[in-house]
Amino acid sequence: MPTVIQKFGGTSLVNREAVVRCARRIATRHEHGDRVVVVVSAMGETTDRLVEQGRMMNPDGNRREFDLLMAAGEQVSAALMALALESLGVGATALTGAQAGFMTDEVHGRARIKDIRTSRLASELDADRVPVVMGFQGVTNEGELTTFGRGGSDTTAVALAAALNVAAEGGYCEINTDVAGIHTADPRLIAEARRLDQISYEEMLELALHGARVMDPRALVFGEKYSVPILVRHSTRPGAGTLITSMEEDMERPSVVGCALKEDIGRIALSVPAGESGAQAAIFEATARAGIVVDDIIQTEHDGRVHVAFTVEHADLAVVRTAISESLDDLGGGHTDPEVEIGLAKVSAVGTGMKTHTGIASRMFGALADRSIPIRNITTSEIKISCLVPQEHGVRALEAVHQCFDLGMPATENAREG
Ligand code: ASP
Ligand code: MG
Repeated sequence: MPTVIQKFGGTSLVNREAVVRCARRIATRHEHGDRVVVVVSAMGETTDRLVEQGRMMNPDGNRREFDLLMAAGEQVSAALMALALESLGVGATALTGAQAGFMTDEVHGRARIKDIRTSRLASELDADRVPVVMGFQGVTNEGELTTFGRGGSDTTAVALAAALNVAAEGGYCEINTDVAGIHTADPRLIAEARRLDQISYEEMLELALHGARVMDPRALVFGEKYSVPILVRHSTRPGAGTLITSMEEDMERPSVVGCALKEDIGRIALSVPAGESGAQAAIFEATARAGIVVDDIIQTEHDGRVHVAFTVEHADLAVVRTAISESLDDLGGGHTDPEVEIGLAKVSAVGTGMKTHTGIASRMFGALADRSIPIRNITTSEIKISCLVPQEHGVRALEAVHQCFDLGMPATENAREG
């Protein structure tokens, strides 16, 4: 009997009717004979509202109390889901992260899972009950509640699938959301976007890091590490969905499988005298201390000065600027004040086939040039090319990339072999 993890995100649980609709899906699965473990996020925008309430009370409040506050959202949705399942005649038990065995480190707000003690889950399953686990939370050895950071319920689901080793008996981790699967581009932006039957962890991770909103990148890292098959589907109209899995390299694969757009990117630039050491270390130690993820780093040297620029999300600009100004001042004079530019977007094309195909970059740059879209910066990895463009051209740039790699073609002409 396979065990299936069914995760339902906040957009699938907006109100009572939505919870009942998802409960019916779980009940059908359970009647079919599968062992089911449910993971839920908070309903709708509950977490945003809770964070907002906490900030209004005390903007500099303790991360510990913010964790308790945010975790309350999942407590409500899990309890309601278990009640809904019981009303449909399915025995269900709502469990906190701690009760489900999620042991974490002590870092409030972005805790890491150290261990999952599955004995309670196993006994619920053996009693033919459906455990409903509260997403994105765990407990430290000292009994303190921790959360994994925003969007962390995907990680709860994938980590459970790994801990219960569901793949061994044909099980998998199902991520139920408000789109029918992973598409060649966000279908809300590109009408021709096509659902993919399969995608590799590697490709999906690049897409998620570069703006695809369907899955949390941390969950994909987990999934790849433990080879958890992840099936992304629509929560109430579950079609074939998209299977995220490890895929063998294959010359027949299209070079590009999907593209993504990330908006609201800011750029910080400054210069220091050439030959002075320590500036780069000071800048990026400061951003790391502030807990900010830096995107692209660009360095050039001319006229006796080293010019360093990097990109971060708009929301992080103010904090980053203060942090690096302080640490550069400690280094002595000679540097310029950090200049901030806002309103940039990044369009990325992703595909493992890039490793073996040539001419991908020129095709992408050509498509942007044809539409007179200026490229502000280019970054690449083995399986990704990204261009930074002015945000006002963001969606047109995505359209250009989607078109130039024929991503909207019928599945038979463009789909890779499974
Ligand atoms: N409810 C949490 C959030 O909004 C966790 C999640 O949904 O994954 O970030
Ligand atoms: Mg999510």
